[in-house]
Amino acid sequence: MSQRTLVLLKPDTVRRGLVGEVLGRFEAKGLRIVAMDQRTIDGEQADQHYAEHVERDFYPPLRAFVTSGPLVALVLEGDEAVEVVRLLNGATDGRKAAPGTIRGDFSLSNRENLVHGSDSPESADREIKLWFPDLP
Ligand code: ADP
Ligand code: MG
Repeated sequence: MSQRTLVLLKPDTVRRGLVGEVLGRFEAKGLRIVAMDQRTIDGEQADQHYAEHVERDFYPPLRAFVTSGPLVALVLEGDEAVEVVRLLNGATDGRKAAPGTIRGDFSLSNRENLVHGSDSPESADREIKLWFPDLP
């Protein structure tokens, strides 16, 4: 079933010049770009995006990281897009993510792990509304 999901190419992807490489993987897989915008977010947007994590020990440095420079926000669409993006992204910790995944190939960190993908269709709905409120 066709779905939409919210993807972030986090500031490390932009800083390292990997936007084309990472975006190319999603495109090559067959996902369609429905919306795309490079922006630098403030702490409030970070708190809303990561609402489920704001009380966690790892959140303050995560908040500093995601607000540290421009990121690219995307809405991708395709069959089972939520799960497909999570599979392409790989495990959260780049040191443990499987080779062949984005994190497994390009990240050696459990924080600076290049990408975000919504974890369920419900999260995708919430996150797409947060990042692209005007998207039809
Ligand atoms: P995912 O992005 O794979 O869905 P989580 O939702 O668990 O992972 O965490 C959100 C983000 O917080 C991760 O992508 C990562 O950037 C950061 N993070 C998660 N766990 C840790 C941790 N133990 N230490 C540092 N950063 C973390
Ligand atoms: Mg998550």
